[in-house]
Amino acid sequence: MNDHEVIAYFSMEIALEPGMPTYSGGLGMLAGDTIRSAADLQLPMVAVTLLHRQGYFAQKLDAGGWQTESPVAWPVDRFCHELPARAQVTIEGRAVHLRAWKYTVKGVGGHEVPVFLLDTDLTENTGWDRTLTHHLYGGDSWYRLCQEIVLGIGGVRMLRALGYREVPRFHMNEGHAALLGLELLEEHARWFGRDGFNHDDVQAIQQRCVFTTHTPVPAGHDRFPFELVGRALGRSDFGEHHDVFCCEGELNLTYLALNLSHYVNGVAKKHGEVSRLLLLPKDRFHHYQIDHITNGVHLATWASPPFAQLFDRYVPGWREDNASLRGALNIPGEDIWRAHSEAKERLVQEINRRTGAGFDPQVFTLAFARRAATYKRARLLLTDPVRLKRIAGKAGGLQIVYAGKAHPRDEAGKKLIQQVIQARQSLLPEVRLVYLENYDWELGRLLAAGVDTWLNTPEPPQEASGTSGMKAALNGVPSLSILDGWWLEGCIEHVTGWAIGESTPVKAGLEERRRRDAQSLYQKLEKTVLPAYSQRQDWLRIMRHAIALNASHFNTQRMLEEYVMKAYFI
Ligand SMILES: *Cc1c(COP(=O)(O)O)cnc(C)c1O
Repeated sequence: MNDHEVIAYFSMEIALEPGMPTYSGGLGMLAGDTIRSAADLQLPMVAVTLLHRQGYFAQKLDAGGWQTESPVAWPVDRFCHELPARAQVTIEGRAVHLRAWKYTVKGVGGHEVPVFLLDTDLTENTGWDRTLTHHLYGGDSWYRLCQEIVLGIGGVRMLRALGYREVPRFHMNEGHAALLGLELLEEHARWFGRDGFNHDDVQAIQQRCVFTTHTPVPAGHDRFPFELVGRALGRSDFGEHHDVFCCEGELNLTYLALNLSHYVNGVAKKHGEVSRLLLLPKDRFHHYQIDHITNGVHLATWASPPFAQLFDRYVPGWREDNASLRGALNIPGEDIWRAHSEAKERLVQEINRRTGAGFDPQVFTLAFARRAATYKRARLLLTDPVRLKRIAGKAGGLQIVYAGKAHPRDEAGKKLIQQVIQARQSLLPEVRLVYLENYDWELGRLLAAGVDTWLNTPEPPQEASGTSGMKAALNGVPSLSILDGWWLEGCIEHVTGWAIGESTPVKAGLEERRRRDAQSLYQKLEKTVLPAYSQRQDWLRIMRHAIALNASHFNTQRMLEEYVMKAYFI
């Protein structure tokens, strides 16, 4: 690879394959899908992340529904190979040595994108430093800061050690990687024989950096007191560079990334708007605009085997040219139904194997699978159990599959899981509910393809994009979702799925909105979704449109082509 044209993609988490628990959820999955599409498109990309030797945790739910966590060490050398190159960063005056493991992502035409997973677990390092690349999102804020130093600063140094000297583009997938900008500034200043960086360096670095923000809530942005960063990095010049570090007394990695990038984007049209309101302070000059590029999914990864076979037959070349899936409109209804029934059968078998819940492939089935965070409102569907039972009874039954982990320190998220599980008994016999442990890549694949409708009920406008509904659409599964994130773009009523609630949320309190959204959800389910499901031809029309209209557009191939045009090659 010619390093004069390399795009270096930095992400704290990347989902590379099902056996590597190096991701926690949507952000890592998106990073993996992005890299897989880059390989398909033969883009000159390399990726940098941390090794996360102990993985993101394994989830156990006890009889009362309470979540406990355990580490998931994985066999690193079965998937990756160690490179001889070494780099180091300085933390609190100590040298922390790094090595990199290489994992190779191969595209549909054979093009390779190398992923470098940084590892501090070396005998040269002291005990605590060796744990820095063990746990994804583990530990306290100090641990987190040190990990971000390893990723951002260590990542740039490792690329240099590996021979990538030029690298015209650095893409920061979320603010965790923002310290790479600081390293580039220092490098640039040194190149010109200066001790510290100045405004010219800042401008030069901006030309190289691209930043994608994923978080519409202020609490989601990493912030560290200057005192803490100063201690870690041994510098005290934060006050001198307001155009870079900004913000009273603390280093906000989102602002650092914004200040050092020539192109910034949110991950759906609406998220672009929300990010502009959140991140463009009116009282301060900023050089950046915030655009949007709507997320997608890697189609070959998320098509279930029966649908992949169907596409191979009716839309050959769909892996190379994702937009050609518009041709799914030509697939005969009975073939679509057969593929769906096969995917559903696989899911039902897995559910019954894991839980003994006695799920029935003939019964209409909904999924709600997401990280258990309160704004995602997992319990919206359970607001009125009596009404839900009545709706289910009339339709010949209803099955609901829940899955999702709560962050180990998120007590409210854990309570949420517990409450969902505790509702199970009272819903019987009309409604069968299961909560599956350990929502991950494999389970996500089974769920997105195997249910009849995908449910999503976030509190607007907190859904940046969401991608699970896109995976479902690819497998002919329509969404029933709140109009937020990608669904504002993807929903064509009764054609690709259905909207819950109003497109412009009524100004109302949280409780009132929840009440109205629940009303709307029950209404849609009872009067529109379940009746359509019982009319096979109407349902097949919707399944076909979900694929043809949404999978052909909401994929990482289209998404990357936008990054190329708007961010990488300008
Ligand atoms: C796709 C996927 C996600 C992202 O889900 P959203 O809820 O749409 O943000 C998270 N976890 C897993 C395992 C996934 O496959």
